[in-house]
Amino acid sequence: MLLFRTTALAVAFAFAVPLNAAAAPVDQNGIAHDIDRSTKPGDDFYRYANGGWLGTVAIPAGQSSYDTRAMLVQKTGQRVRDLIQDAAAAHSVRGGVAQKVGDYYASFMDEDSIEAKGLTPLADDMAMISAITNKASLSAYLGTTLNSEVDGLTANADHIFGVWVNQSFTDPEHYVFHFLQGGLGMPDRDDYIDPSPKMAELRAQYQSHIAAILKLAKVADAETKAARILSLEIQMAQAHAPDSDAADVFKQNNPWKRADFGVKAPGINWDAYFTAAGVAGQSEFIVWQPSAVTGTSALVGSEEIDLWKDYLRFHLIEHYASVLPKIVAAEDFAFYGTILSGTQQTPDRSKDAIAATNAALGQAVGQLYTQRYFPPEAKARAQAMVGNLITAYHVRISNLTWMSPQTKEKALAKLAALKIGVGYPDTWIDYSTLDVMRGDAFGNMRRAEAFNRSYNLAKLRRPVDPAEWRIDPQIVGAVIVFTPNTETFSAGLLQPPYFDFQGDAASNYGSAGAGIAHEISHSFDELGNIYDAQGRLGMWWTPEDLTKYHAAAAKLVAQFDGYCPLADLCVNGKQVLGENIADLAGLRTAHDAYVLSLNGKTDIVINGLTGEQRFFLAFAQRWRKAQSEAALRRQIKTDTHSPGEYRSDTVRNVEAWYKAYDIAPGDKLYLKPEERVGIW
Ligand SMILES: [Zn+2]
Repeated sequence: MLLFRTTALAVAFAFAVPLNAAAAPVDQNGIAHDIDRSTKPGDDFYRYANGGWLGTVAIPAGQSSYDTRAMLVQKTGQRVRDLIQDAAAAHSVRGGVAQKVGDYYASFMDEDSIEAKGLTPLADDMAMISAITNKASLSAYLGTTLNSEVDGLTANADHIFGVWVNQSFTDPEHYVFHFLQGGLGMPDRDDYIDPSPKMAELRAQYQSHIAAILKLAKVADAETKAARILSLEIQMAQAHAPDSDAADVFKQNNPWKRADFGVKAPGINWDAYFTAAGVAGQSEFIVWQPSAVTGTSALVGSEEIDLWKDYLRFHLIEHYASVLPKIVAAEDFAFYGTILSGTQQTPDRSKDAIAATNAALGQAVGQLYTQRYFPPEAKARAQAMVGNLITAYHVRISNLTWMSPQTKEKALAKLAALKIGVGYPDTWIDYSTLDVMRGDAFGNMRRAEAFNRSYNLAKLRRPVDPAEWRIDPQIVGAVIVFTPNTETFSAGLLQPPYFDFQGDAASNYGSAGAGIAHEISHSFDELGNIYDAQGRLGMWWTPEDLTKYHAAAAKLVAQFDGYCPLADLCVNGKQVLGENIADLAGLRTAHDAYVLSLNGKTDIVINGLTGEQRFFLAFAQRWRKAQSEAALRRQIKTDTHSPGEYRSDTVRNVEAWYKAYDIAPGDKLYLKPEERVGIW
């Protein structure tokens, strides 16, 4: 879920930012321990702030880097594991979220029961597949597989198509049916069409895997059938949109009416398909990859029904492999775990069970998590901080020199409409109609999928709810969605050392505040400038805004070009520009917001540090990271984010930092006022 990929509709952000376990945001205990007082702040602020930590941190075995986010993912993962296992041990009364969570996990772990049932849980579906006799019944069965567990960031489910119910690109009032490609057993289109020997070998291994699965289901002539299934998937992959299209939202905005399917994509009996999918009345669609819909539908028309039936048998087993006997899971792991992902360790059933419980009952686990770790006071404090950030942005946008007056008006309207969620949703998903029963892992998974599908499809009949959450509270992360105009920051992210609801405001603003403000800036910068206040698609900057914005940013490119951590390698200022601008906007705005939070008072001194000092210190501590030289090289060459040390050096552009630490000419990080960059 923590993706850094920019796609059309949504951008999900992991806070790739660090602080330390021992240091709750700069409170009584943490800060003195982490500072390196032998380093002058003006010469090397990153080492001044993090020297203590850098001197003792060890990169965990088998990893190439370690930072605060990694620490929080580990810590929060353990908390979630404990909560789920406690719920399983408690044997709660039927009906509440704890019972559902506990029983889901316990059933998944009940391998004896799973073994005893063998493949019989699949019998009904296998019988339905065997009963397919013509294109209409084939289309109807395909309709039952419509997958709703996809979104703008997760495509290519193992069913031929997926639905993401989300706001329209043009009509902000209504949810629409976003229709997405799928149906491939390997993750990337290139896995199917890349002619290199390495990929040809991978395809041969996949074909063997298909044959092995078919044999487990006692399908006759498995080898021949596996070859034909692979060949069918190759043809589907050829019709899929190339990965590069995923970055261009305008290519995904293809509104189709229900009647268009028969004309533009003949082959599937669409009446049968949509009726079986439970959306017979749906009239409006947005088809993200028209070539895939046309191509896959043509294959339903042209290929033998028996081939499709074998394809469906294989994918049925594959889809439920995690709740089928060990022999299936072992074959699955041999291909997906070992061959495809290079995982050498033996699979850990409890880890899969935790992941499956989170996937099926995300907000139920989220309720248990926030009850224990993110009380309403935490939410209130985070909301107050967000309120000050919005106020600060209002002033900053109003005063911009590069943005034209008419664009400013649109930016301020977008700021006013921006909905920011913190911690957990105001309204939880109601799971009361979902039955979870001990000893029925397969049934639980199937019912949870059906529940989630109905939940999603029901949105088609409701107005858009910008307060809807797209990330579970127990995840260490945040999501920006441009349609609708919302951002959410989970409880898993809003915890020490990023954010301590009982802790020091200066540190909270310098760390989580700057992080949230960074993400807010993306709704207004070159990522967000094609979505208006209500999330409609369309550029709202003028060409002059763009020109002036780039001119204002030129100095920042040069500043980062000058950072060379290795003798033969410097940061590429252009490659990291967008994120550096967001860092700078985040830092400056968070500082304004911190000052607002003081209401004219002077902050107290803690551990000999003023509030201003703690604000910048917390910012620099966000970025601490230990990584191998190879990882650093890879980051500089490929990542759109600068190495943490230089992100921390963003402070060089902010006047208040010079005052807070008495930075003067002669200090290595000193920039003359005219060399400092503003932009937002
Ligand atoms: Zn960013």
